[in-house]
Amino acid sequence: MNAEPRKINLEQWDREYARLRAAGMTEPVYGGPLSRHVADGDTRLLKLRYDNSPAALRLWNFLLTEEDRLRAARDDGKKLVGAMKDLGTVPVMAYSLDNLVAFYPDGAWWIPCVMELNTGLLQIADSLGIDESFCPVRAMLGAFITEAHFPLPDLLTCSVGATCDDFSAIAQRLNGLGHPILWWEIPHRRPAENGEQAVTLPGGFSAPQSQIDFVRSELSRVKAALEELASRSLDDDTLAAGIAKANLVRELLAQLRHLAFTAPLCPMPALEMLIAEMLAIHFCSDQDETILVLTDLLAEVTRRVAAGTGHLPADAARIFWVNPVADLQAMNLLEDCGGRMCGTEYLFAHALDPIPTTIPTMEALAQMALADPMVGSAFDRAARIVADIRRFGAEAVIVSRIPGASHCALEGEIIGQVVRETYGLPVLEIEVPSITDATQATLRTRLEALVETVKDRRER
Ligand code: SF4
Repeated sequence: MNAEPRKINLEQWDREYARLRAAGMTEPVYGGPLSRHVADGDTRLLKLRYDNSPAALRLWNFLLTEEDRLRAARDDGKKLVGAMKDLGTVPVMAYSLDNLVAFYPDGAWWIPCVMELNTGLLQIADSLGIDESFCPVRAMLGAFITEAHFPLPDLLTCSVGATCDDFSAIAQRLNGLGHPILWWEIPHRRPAENGEQAVTLPGGFSAPQSQIDFVRSELSRVKAALEELASRSLDDDTLAAGIAKANLVRELLAQLRHLAFTAPLCPMPALEMLIAEMLAIHFCSDQDETILVLTDLLAEVTRRVAAGTGHLPADAARIFWVNPVADLQAMNLLEDCGGRMCGTEYLFAHALDPIPTTIPTMEALAQMALADPMVGSAFDRAARIVADIRRFGAEAVIVSRIPGASHCALEGEIIGQVVRETYGLPVLEIEVPSITDATQATLRTRLEALVETVKDRRER
């Protein structure tokens, strides 16, 4: 049933869908032709190109039906938790309780891209005083006002402290609009001082035990709120089972990333890999289905690697990409220009690392929260990127700035400096707005120049 790997557009996917159905492909309840999502307003889909495998189809359909899933969960009597900012910790706790479903309202930052600015969410944010000097996550404010993109959560949590100014301001504005928020604090990660016990966190950063103790106590407040919402206890065994399930997702992603970034031929395009990685954060509102979606994707990638097939020529420039792109089309563009994704750091590297299972559960989650690359210095983040560049054999780095994002003002310079000093690799900094149509010619020129530079360096 599986054809040779190819990138196809939406129209071609409709024909391929008919062929796969005729060949006996079965689908989960959220399956169907991808083009039906355009009628929901997801017009950017018309401009993207996709992997042609049934596994990729399932991935996209899973992603694009999250809103339906959230509404169905509420209809089934489940409670909804809107976890904001921590990216990957609170949902692990929430999904351990089988009557809670957690999601990130922050994910609204892709709505202006997927719906091509047709929703007016950014204009609503403008009218609330959160203008384009903030990052696209401000779309979340509009989504809360219109209630057209996700149901209002029964509980909203938000990590504060070592949080970017953008999110801090936007979440406070949301609170001011009458949405109660359970704030929990995470301090700026720092090295242990003399006399303090230092702990190596998952992923390799280090923090003093006192900071882990503090975060553990903060997460205990979140846990109590989740227990109250669920009307049941989140005991150690239940949480350990939830952690094991989250680790299964992380393990599948680790295998997928390893194969996708290191195989001789690229077995899965950058766009699908970006979507797959995002599933680690809150499981797209269905943890069990996430495991099945990733299992399918991994099987397809494994099959392609074993068969020696893939996308892109074997000499594609091996690129490490820093920060998620506001416009998904940039992932297609990289490959059009001759680049291939070989390593990523999309702001949530900590959500991909295995959660420790040999220490108490809340201690493990506190360590995970402190391992967030965004709660420490940009030099820490650069060190992790450098380690991953070695792991995946990247030949150049792209730091894609997020428009308005406060951390993007200087971090690119620091990351670039560390990468150049360590490996002497070329580093390109670009800005990717929610819709790149107006800047695509410039972006293309810059990406092509980077690819040429990589290939020139091979000949030296
Ligand atoms: S500024 Fe960066 S870290 Fe902060 S909300 Fe925006 S994308 Fe996320």
